Amino acid sequence: MSQPQSTLPVADAAEVRAYARRLVLLHPRQLAASLLLYSLAAAAGLVAPWMLGDLVQDAGRHAGTAATAGAVICAAVAAQALLERYATVTSTRLSEKIVARLREDFVRKVLELPLTTVERAGSGDLVARTTRDIDVLSRTVQLAAPDTLIALCTILLTLGAIALAGPLLLLPSLVAVPVLWASTRWYLRRARPGYLRASASYSRLTEGLTETVDGARTVEALGIAKRRLARTDRDIAESYAAERHTLWLRSVYLPFADTAYMLPVAATLVVGGLFYVDGAVSLGAATAATLYVQQIIGPVDRLLFWMDELQVGGASLARILGVGQALPDRHTEAGQDAVHTPAGQGIEVRGVHYAYREGHDILRDVNLVIRPGERLAIVGPSGAGKSTLGRLLAGIHTPRTGSVTVGGVPLDALPLPELRRQVALVSQEHHVFRGTLRDNLLIARPEAADDELEKALKTIDAWEWASALGLDTEVGSGAARLSPAQAQQLALARLVLADPHTLVLDEATAQLDPRTARHLERSLAAVLEGRTVIAIAHRLHTAHDADRVVVLDDGRITEAGPHRELIGRGGPYAALWESWHGPDEGPAVRTGGT
Ligand code: ADP
Repeated sequence: MSQPQSTLPVADAAEVRAYARRLVLLHPRQLAASLLLYSLAAAAGLVAPWMLGDLVQDAGRHAGTAATAGAVICAAVAAQALLERYATVTSTRLSEKIVARLREDFVRKVLELPLTTVERAGSGDLVARTTRDIDVLSRTVQLAAPDTLIALCTILLTLGAIALAGPLLLLPSLVAVPVLWASTRWYLRRARPGYLRASASYSRLTEGLTETVDGARTVEALGIAKRRLARTDRDIAESYAAERHTLWLRSVYLPFADTAYMLPVAATLVVGGLFYVDGAVSLGAATAATLYVQQIIGPVDRLLFWMDELQVGGASLARILGVGQALPDRHTEAGQDAVHTPAGQGIEVRGVHYAYREGHDILRDVNLVIRPGERLAIVGPSGAGKSTLGRLLAGIHTPRTGSVTVGGVPLDALPLPELRRQVALVSQEHHVFRGTLRDNLLIARPEAADDELEKALKTIDAWEWASALGLDTEVGSGAARLSPAQAQQLALARLVLADPHTLVLDEATAQLDPRTARHLERSLAAVLEGRTVIAIAHRLHTAHDADRVVVLDDGRITEAGPHRELIGRGGPYAALWESWHGPDEGPAVRTGGT
């Protein structure tokens, strides 16, 4: 699992094997049924060469034999076709079930991904894994895996039939084994890293393209189109090289494989002939064995063909399983000595350093004690680290060193639901989930009764429209549409339900819809009432109205105190105030957001 830090982890071969085994054995009865049907079909396929061998043996002796043999062969072929049909139906059903399970597992893993990991790895890698790798793996499970099983069954049964015709006749088939073994081993050793490299190169390509498209305006504004193009060209070149490498591997391997399975046919014919001359085997047995060896080429070929596909699928599975292996950014796993309960509501930041990328500290030695019920404003120039500090205070990021505690317990030691009862970040995110209005509210507190929902909606003055709509009305995409203001109120109602004692309000991301601002402003004020509020202040009057102002500059706290005191002190805050505020007292002056 040792991966460069910038991409999501990749599972190792043993983990992939263990997971694949678990998947395959998920429905043992269906697996057994399809294996049985395929084996019967393969057995029916063995009848014809046997009868032909008999015919050669008895040539010219009994007139009736040929007609009987013909009838038996026809019946066997028909039976084989019918059995194969049912076997295919059974195994396809099984594959679909397995693919469904795979997708469910994957979605769950993606949803559980630590936020920090996603931010660090970039969305391109995740997008590539969600699309390309899942598609590749679906194809592997739907086509490659069942066909491999069929081929294996057929090969084993055919070898059994040869042994039945005469154990000695198995010997010439063995000439293929060393060639196949050596060349397949050579290939498999190189194929896994080769295909992993190809997949990773696709990830980088997707990521680069996604980034360029997402940031098209910025790319244009900065005039870096050439640089972006050059990056895309480099990524394509890398993909090309990776594809060429795997192509080269196949071009070396496949000729050896081709030779390897023509050898036994010739060998059986020659050796069978010699044995017959020696009287060691009958003519019929030698004939049947040669036909069987010929017949085995098909399944062996398919087996080797799919081996390649299985390799690609294995590489994709490794990447998909890797998503579940991202290290948690919280320390609340089982095995902790005790569940800590915060003693009090005070939040303390002690000696905190934080970096998004190693070696680039965004916050440096931040110390801050927030009293319960306090209104704190964090101000500072754009890029000073205000939003970052806000996310640390809300427990979204975990400090690199130092600690952020509530009531003495580190935020990252609290289970998520518990954390959300302590601190919440008020953001612009007001997604309406597909479901009833009630479902949308219960996300915040699943056990809340209807009268609590009503109370929450009343608090933010949304009960009127909500009761008119009805709690059981379906909302979200494709159902009743809520206005942006209603969606925002829904988000605020969730906060009231979750009832954290502290709110982190990032003004850059929690701006209210200006068309309905006044109404929402009142709703928001109702939510803030009685709670500790940490405002990431991008607007001046927020700082002015706060109990205490903290000035952040280049990741350090340079000043802290009430507005008046700081103005009186004539330090950095007074200078900021002067420059923001200017001669007129317009409250809409902004300090530059993110
Ligand atoms: P402010 O809110 O004071 O404007 P931020 O906390 O948003 O400052 O950003 C501080 C610094 O951290 C900036 O240099 C910004 O580019 C960087 N930064 C912010 N978010 C991320 C992120 N998700 N990944 C990497 N760097 C980030």
